[in-house]
Amino acid sequence: MTENKPENKPKRLFIKTYGCQMNVYDSDRMADAMAPHGYSAASGPEDADLILLNTCHIREKASEKVFSELGRLNEIRAERQARGEELLIGVTGCVAQAEGEEIVRRSPEVDLVVGPQAYHHLPELVAKARTRHHGLGAREAASAATRDGRVATDFPGIEKFDHLPLPRREATIARGLTAFLTVQEGCDKFCSFCVVPYTRGAEVSRPVTQIIREAEALVEAGVMEITLLGQNVNAYHGVDDRGRAVGLGDLLYRLADVDGLERLRYTTSHPRDMDDALIAAHRDLDKLMPYLHLPVQSGSDAILKAMNRRHTRADYLRLIERVKKARPDIAMSGDFIVGFPGETDADFEETLSIVREVGYASAFTFKYSSRPGTPGAGMTNQVPEPVKAERLDRLLALVTTQMRDFGKACVGRTLDVLLERKGRMPGQLGGRSPYLQAVHLEAPEHLIGTIQPVEIIAAGNNSIQGKIVTDKEPKSVSVHESIALLQP
Ligand code: SAM
Ligand code: SF4
Repeated sequence: MTENKPENKPKRLFIKTYGCQMNVYDSDRMADAMAPHGYSAASGPEDADLILLNTCHIREKASEKVFSELGRLNEIRAERQARGEELLIGVTGCVAQAEGEEIVRRSPEVDLVVGPQAYHHLPELVAKARTRHHGLGAREAASAATRDGRVATDFPGIEKFDHLPLPRREATIARGLTAFLTVQEGCDKFCSFCVVPYTRGAEVSRPVTQIIREAEALVEAGVMEITLLGQNVNAYHGVDDRGRAVGLGDLLYRLADVDGLERLRYTTSHPRDMDDALIAAHRDLDKLMPYLHLPVQSGSDAILKAMNRRHTRADYLRLIERVKKARPDIAMSGDFIVGFPGETDADFEETLSIVREVGYASAFTFKYSSRPGTPGAGMTNQVPEPVKAERLDRLLALVTTQMRDFGKACVGRTLDVLLERKGRMPGQLGGRSPYLQAVHLEAPEHLIGTIQPVEIIAAGNNSIQGKIVTDKEPKSVSVHESIALLQP
């Protein structure tokens, strides 16, 4: 009979993800990397053997939130230890990168701290942590903190992608019809408010063949829509198998040739990296959705300069004109920061005016958050909190109206909707429009995994409603549906 040692038991992994889509992607890849080592998904922290906090450092209080979450998790661990059970706790992501050994110093019970470029070392770090647990008492383990290789925060280029496994088929099927695919990491722009160049490192791009292989694996598992990710995704500069330089525009043309891949998106872009090839891809590729997230941050040239954005308001507006010429139905999305040091009322009015001029289908608005180590943090002309809060409210009111107006303007139009899942109400399905809007409609379940022409009949605050246009052919059917049809 096999002895029921703890290491022989099936193990469960719970990842709590903070922040952006890149962290969502990273969490999935970490889960994929741990699967061959016996870790399947836990339903929550209480039934996990390994908990990872995949953290974000973009705005303040991120680190404090992590330390308070660690305190809570340590209580769960104490209960589990009292029952003789093992629970490992790790911190990954940008707080791990930024705080490194400080995390182990302040929270000695943490078993591993892994920066974003070192995820391929996760299985070996977990194995080491388990050995430590079995070999040492918790206190001894804690005091051995930084000597025992618990902290992995090196920046070894983009080597991790050579070692991380392709997304697992079963996990991809479970994750649904849309997927993220990181093509580029890091940033060399050094906007004066932003920590990304410090936490994610210099800009690096994955090779084309690796990206195509990953896209094909996703499609093979039923994915119909892929969003290419990068902190500065349109700075992508990979090489193909013949050693030729490939930009994001060219990469999109190549991905559009992947059979079964129906929709492509990419995020997040910098206005300076929107080149002709990328604009041409918007003109030529039906698969590239007519939606562009292009942050401007501020409408004031003085603030753009202080932010080190390296473009003006006029540059940004001219760029949108060029994109709209190539793809007239494109919907714009943006990021805005209010209260950057030195922002006057007049500067803020310029931000409101650029928002009115562009007309956004969606927008993300942020209060400036001083990040230690960035040039912005050292600026002496910080804007008082109440002023920032008041500006944020005004900007939010404006973009909310624009988003609602965009939804209303879709009423009466027929949009191709990717039907993704069952809706909340019986008989209802949920999907996505080309403009990334959530769409609800009444339709039979077997249509999940197809793209249907849908007439939009109403628009709410966060979603639109429609009905399938029955006299038009559906656009495509996913592998999921073919799998469903084959099942008895
Ligand atoms: N690369 C993109 C660009 O150049 O616009 C932005 C990526 S950044 C990870 C996402 C967004 O977070 C930014 O567009 C910005 O609006 C916001 N952000 C970054 N640092 C911030 C800070 N210190 N305070 C407030 N918002 C910030
Ligand atoms: Fe941060 Fe984007 Fe600026 Fe890079 S380009 S420093 S990611 S805001």
